[in-house]
Amino acid sequence: MNLREGAKPVGAAPAVIDRIKRNLVNLKMPRALEILDVTLRGIERGEITALEAIDLLLYEEVTLRENRRVKMALTMARLSAIKTLAGFDFSFQPSLDKNRVMALAELQFIDRAEVVHLIGPPGTGKSHLSLALGVEAVKAGRSVYFGSLADIVATLAKAEKEGSLREKIRFFCRFALLIVDEIGYLPVIPGGGNLFFQLVNARYEKGAMILTSNRGFAEWGEIFGDPVVATALLDRLLHHAAVFQIEGSSYRLREHADLLPEHIRSKAFLNPLPVPATLKRRGRPPKNGGADHVEG
Ligand code: ADP
Ligand code: MG
Repeated sequence: MNLREGAKPVGAAPAVIDRIKRNLVNLKMPRALEILDVTLRGIERGEITALEAIDLLLYEEVTLRENRRVKMALTMARLSAIKTLAGFDFSFQPSLDKNRVMALAELQFIDRAEVVHLIGPPGTGKSHLSLALGVEAVKAGRSVYFGSLADIVATLAKAEKEGSLREKIRFFCRFALLIVDEIGYLPVIPGGGNLFFQLVNARYEKGAMILTSNRGFAEWGEIFGDPVVATALLDRLLHHAAVFQIEGSSYRLREHADLLPEHIRSKAFLNPLPVPATLKRRGRPPKNGGADHVEG
């Protein structure tokens, strides 16, 4: 087809335009349909070439689809809020290595099925960062599930009661990234530690996790109400793990810092104990060379 000839009589070829529109409907390309007329007028006026017009129609349609996919996947991920890394003020948390956090956004930790621990006092941005990494993962096409420890344990407990624990664990294993928020705020319900262990064990070396906690690892026995379960959990969760310790003050309370008592304001609020040496290695060879690091 001669494009120069074809471009000119656009306004004079209603049958062709109708056919294009019908095809766009059949192909389910609503955005291209929506901007077709204005694009054709642009060609008529010589504002864009026919090639640019094709490019524009396809770009707009693909962008719409991509936005829809991300929106749907964000809903499926059950993120409690949409947060971004760009919206995180690293200067407010100098104890946090920005480069290390930004490296997580490259998402190799998901491919390597690693565990990321974000530990710090309330309001220091643990949920924000976990959500922002969840958003990055969704945008990159990875499946993500976000829940508080209490919610996830409650879901598992309900499934167990209904005789569908296996299926529920399989469901949680389908996500490339499982984010478990708020470990330590509430004591886990009786038997909950055991259920959570089954999930962690099922995902071990298969799927990545981000865990956030306001408590140090030494307190996990108390949180899970059972030191044996806590040790078994940490055994899995500290192998192929990266630990981010935030030692700053609450972003929520930043405007009222002068009104707070010293023990809340101070960085000593959270004083995690070091990881017991016995938990650092499991004697199994690491799945890949670079992934086996526990950092404090
Ligand atoms: P945590 O989970 O550690 O208790 P959150 O991540 O929920 O804290 O942070 C509390 C609020 O403050 C959220 O609205 C979060 O977006 C915001 N926030 C926390 N830290 C920062 C920061 N460094 N820069 C921007 N916003 C922050
Ligand atoms: Mg939080």
